[in-house]
Amino acid sequence: MERPNKHAPVPFIDLAAQYARLKSDIDARIQTVLNHNRYILGDEVKELEAALATYCGAAETVSCANGTDALILPLKAWGVSAGDAVFVPSWSYCASAEAIALLRATPVFVDVDPLTYNMDPASLRAAIEGCPSDLTPKVVMSVDLFGQCADYDTLTPIVREHGLKLLADSAQGFGSTLNGQHPIHWADAATTSFFPAKPLGCYGDGGAIFTDDAELADTLRSLRMHGSGTDKYDNVRIGLNSRLDTMQAAILLSKLSVFEDEIAARNRVADRYNAGLAQYVQVPQVMDGVRPIWAIYTIETDEPDALQAALGEVGIPAPRYYPKPIHRQTAYADYPTGAGGMAVTDAARLRAISLPMHPYLDVATQDRIIETVKAALH
Ligand SMILES: *Cc1c(COP(=O)(O)O)cnc(C)c1O
Repeated sequence: MERPNKHAPVPFIDLAAQYARLKSDIDARIQTVLNHNRYILGDEVKELEAALATYCGAAETVSCANGTDALILPLKAWGVSAGDAVFVPSWSYCASAEAIALLRATPVFVDVDPLTYNMDPASLRAAIEGCPSDLTPKVVMSVDLFGQCADYDTLTPIVREHGLKLLADSAQGFGSTLNGQHPIHWADAATTSFFPAKPLGCYGDGGAIFTDDAELADTLRSLRMHGSGTDKYDNVRIGLNSRLDTMQAAILLSKLSVFEDEIAARNRVADRYNAGLAQYVQVPQVMDGVRPIWAIYTIETDEPDALQAALGEVGIPAPRYYPKPIHRQTAYADYPTGAGGMAVTDAARLRAISLPMHPYLDVATQDRIIETVKAALH
């Protein structure tokens, strides 16, 4: 009998296992696209947009080329430009702030809640009310970090009180709900990314925007097609080339059919991690009423580098999300941090480390990871 290799490399995210499950369906859907040859804005794109809208309870879904464009497009549709402030957590992937800076607007960095890592309402209020006088507050970009909805019940009244737009960057959180509602229930627009490693990922780049605003959706459809008007050769605004390929839409339709089942599996993995590790590290905290989707399972410990090394020695990847919050990165260092400061972000970045998380992580491998963490921290 073959002995199981206790140092066999563990994938951080196992796309091969997911493909093995869906292979016949995905292969057939790809073949269908190869047969009909409508590679751009084919029927699968419309079918996927309708299915996603139903899934998250949005009136409209506009797919696009990636999760970064999904942020740029609504900001552009709202006319966000030089002199405008967009409030965004620094504890996020760089794309959240990049979308703002690319439009020549100013990202103003906001601190996060120490337990959920999502935008801290008090820090948001301080940032808006203390906004530099040469900037006009326009948009709040919340981020549903690591797969957990932001605190929309508390954030939204602050956004409305100041007459701002709410854009939910749900690239990591699409599928997460708060009291049964998706972020679009609160936001003017919510976005996601279909980058392969995201919980609902395709086999390339892709993204989508969700909104209940039909006029915004029309503008987004124009913007993703070079600013097209009703006449294909009369462009009415400056836009982008930002469409989701038909092939990727076909793949996503297959993956969407098992998405809820995968979210349940991710939650079972998280429950076992939490039970096994709570005594040894700070396990992730989920806000009351939130159904998380665990895009990334992140713990805190005093010695993340030592833990990363110990896990790495036995083939377990444990990346650090995120050692350099955006306000500490070279390209973003000159943008303002909000009046609330960055104390929580700056503390969490030194302690956070993430463990493998995906729906196909078997119990034996979970136990191997839990035991390795415990041994390393003794
Ligand atoms: C991945 C990600 C994005 C960008 O998505 P892409 O599809 O890679 O462009 C934006 N925001 C957050 C929080 C992300 O994690």
